[in-house]
Amino acid sequence: MRLVVLDDDESIAQFMANVASGRGWDAHAVTHEDEFQALVRAAPPEAIVLDLQLGASDGIEQLRFLHSLGYRGAIVLMSGFDGRVLAAAEAIGNSLGLTIVAVIEKPARAARVRDVLAAIEQIPAATVSPAASAPRAPRSVSPNDIAAAIDGGRMELHLQPIVSAAGHAVTRAEALIRWRDPEMGLVSPEQFILVAEQDAGVIDRLTMWVAETGVAQYLRLAALGSAVQVCINISGHNLRSLDFPERMAAVLARMSAPPGAIGLEVTESTAMHDLDTTAAVLTSLRLKGFPIALDDFGTGHSSLTALRRLPFSAIKIDKSFVGELETSNDSLMIVRSVIRLAHDMGLASVAEGVGTAGAVRRLTELGIDGLQGFYFSGPLPFEGFATWLRQWRSRV
Ligand code: C2E
Ligand code: MG
Ligand code: MG
Repeated sequence: MRLVVLDDDESIAQFMANVASGRGWDAHAVTHEDEFQALVRAAPPEAIVLDLQLGASDGIEQLRFLHSLGYRGAIVLMSGFDGRVLAAAEAIGNSLGLTIVAVIEKPARAARVRDVLAAIEQIPAATVSPAASAPRAPRSVSPNDIAAAIDGGRMELHLQPIVSAAGHAVTRAEALIRWRDPEMGLVSPEQFILVAEQDAGVIDRLTMWVAETGVAQYLRLAALGSAVQVCINISGHNLRSLDFPERMAAVLARMSAPPGAIGLEVTESTAMHDLDTTAAVLTSLRLKGFPIALDDFGTGHSSLTALRRLPFSAIKIDKSFVGELETSNDSLMIVRSVIRLAHDMGLASVAEGVGTAGAVRRLTELGIDGLQGFYFSGPLPFEGFATWLRQWRSRV
């Protein structure tokens, strides 16, 4: 395997190359950007070690160069800066689509370098390979296609359990829409909700379909003896129709579902437009008995304003923070503070994107109320969810 090390300090570049040679790598130490770029361009190596502080340029510029080259090998970043700078550089590399496999804080010790190299030797994907063919982009869809899919019965509402931290009981589930198209397969909401929102009539129909289907699912589960509150996602447009609360209450009344059958989730970005109308609609909904969670908390620009101005009953902490709980001390501190904030304001806290037993333990220690994520179950079609729930309840 070939390795190229770029560090403007020759002794460090040579040291890294020597450690790699000792493991049988074909290692090259270079101290100049030009030499580095020429080497990599001529024959892309399996791995690159890149110092972030170079003489004439910096490591970020070299990351951009590697990106422009379409480099697919393993990249190790190295710096004497504090961990926050390294983490930011790592994130930039990742967002450029590069494979940053490790960051090494200087002074680097031989043992650490050997560990990193050993890890690279284990990853077949880290070898230089032609760019993987991009997944086929879905055919572009229009609001009319979505309306037709609703009318044609091609939408499905899947359920994902929300587990209480105390006792691991399941009392709620999030309803997540999917579009089953004969040509495109199962289309994720991320690919069509924004399109539906371009047409007020279509997003309104979509939300009302989700509400009715959610109530029907609630009633079927209740008939099986396992009622759980079904939490649906609502759109910004819904929050700006003053008759929305009444129409929601009418769905429950018409289907004879009790208040509390349905919970609502709103993202901050949708809630923050036209704050006066939104506040009126959300307050009405609360008064009619609907709990409302502020979804994806922390990803927008005005999370705290939303909390101060709007009558939420719960905060859902975004999965980007939860997913990093065990690897990023910053994310851990943010999650800890948000849970405290929720409790100080009298709101429930729910963590999204819970993926590991370690995250469950951590979040429980921090006082979280609800847990949601692949660790328990992904979103499932109704029958699968009912089965999962029966098995879960026989175990807990
Ligand atoms: P969301 O409301 O934040 O929903 C959570 C998303 O996280 C879901 O993606 C879910 O499948 C995913 N997820 C659950 N557990 C994990 C985990 O452990 N790790 C990771 N990485 N992801 C996890 P999904 O179903 O693709 O939905 C994406 C977004 O689309 C939703 O985000 C919601 O904003 C929107 N959406 C879904 N259904 C509807 C709907 O009926 N109406 C509206 N307006 N929006 C919807
Ligand atoms: Mg949600
Ligand atoms: Mg969310």
